Amino acid sequence: QAKKGGRNTLLFYDPAMQAALEQRAALENDLRRALLEDQFVLYYQMQINRDGRIIGAEVLMRWQHPLRGLVSPLDFIPLAEETGLILPIGNWVIETACAQLKQWEADADKSVLQLAVNVSARQFHQADFVQQVDQAICRHRIAPNRLKLELTESLVLDDIEDTIVKMHRLKEIGISFSLDDFGTGYSSLYYLTKLPIDQLKIDQSFVRNIGLTQSDAVIVQTIIGMAINLNIESIAEGVETEAQQAFLETHGCHVYQGFLYSRPIPRTEFERLFERMRQKPPTLPRAKLLN
Ligand code: C2E
Ligand code: MG
Ligand code: MG
Ligand code: MG
Repeated sequence: QAKKGGRNTLLFYDPAMQAALEQRAALENDLRRALLEDQFVLYYQMQINRDGRIIGAEVLMRWQHPLRGLVSPLDFIPLAEETGLILPIGNWVIETACAQLKQWEADADKSVLQLAVNVSARQFHQADFVQQVDQAICRHRIAPNRLKLELTESLVLDDIEDTIVKMHRLKEIGISFSLDDFGTGYSSLYYLTKLPIDQLKIDQSFVRNIGLTQSDAVIVQTIIGMAINLNIESIAEGVETEAQQAFLETHGCHVYQGFLYSRPIPRTEFERLFERMRQKPPTLPRAKLLN
């Protein structure tokens, strides 16, 4: 069965496509409701320094869907970007992270923790992004250097003029920046020196292959060396084995994140883990801390 739809277009009835469209519409509908009904939660994945101390966490979003259970950001961020829902959702993440930082300020040890928040392209490039971040920081009265924004190379290059202006304005406020999934994009050395970047985050695809693929080990080593020469920090994401950690340590990587230390976990669990590590500081070589 075919029917005429608009000029020169024939719409064919395709049950599979129809089902996919309906599923997408349902998901979009659910996503709209999720914000109103408070179904999003933040998970925290610790980041540790060379001494094995927790210096902060990456904030990773989860959607507690009433029927589907815990939904991965990989399954809803793209739709949120397409529909523009990422604007209120992304703002909620920043707000919640700032509120968390404020709460930790009351505790001497936790007050030094940094939170790294992922920012999507559409969110960053919206007109009032700088203002939103500034307002969140002022409203919660937190030290701006506790907030780190994770930007991907593609976001940065999407609209390089806008990026340069906004990053410098945010930097003036005191925000720091990590370049996420580094090595997978096309950023040139030229831009790296033009942007106020504090940290290069080595993509987990390279970290995973450290002991397996010689070229990936070379890439990891090169990124760490580049960070050292640019006088910025390097962080490895997706560290899963002691062998990967040892390689990273040998080459001078500054900060570590991955399942070897902890998976992303809810706030209360993260706080408990932090307390446990505070009482018993890790000894070198670092043992597996939690999984
Ligand atoms: P990402 O920012 O590159 O985050 C790293 C991802 O790697 C996370 O997946 C994390 O759970 C996972 N991971 C961490 N350690 C390991 C490891 O040792 N092994 C393996 N195999 N994986 C590890 P997750 O939480 O599913 O997030 C996926 C992506 O969704 C993130 O990639 C980020 O791009 C996006 N995302 C998450 N939260 C937010 C958010 O609040 N806002 C925006 N715009 N994007 C977000
Ligand atoms: Mg990230
Ligand atoms: Mg990443
Ligand atoms: Mg990644």
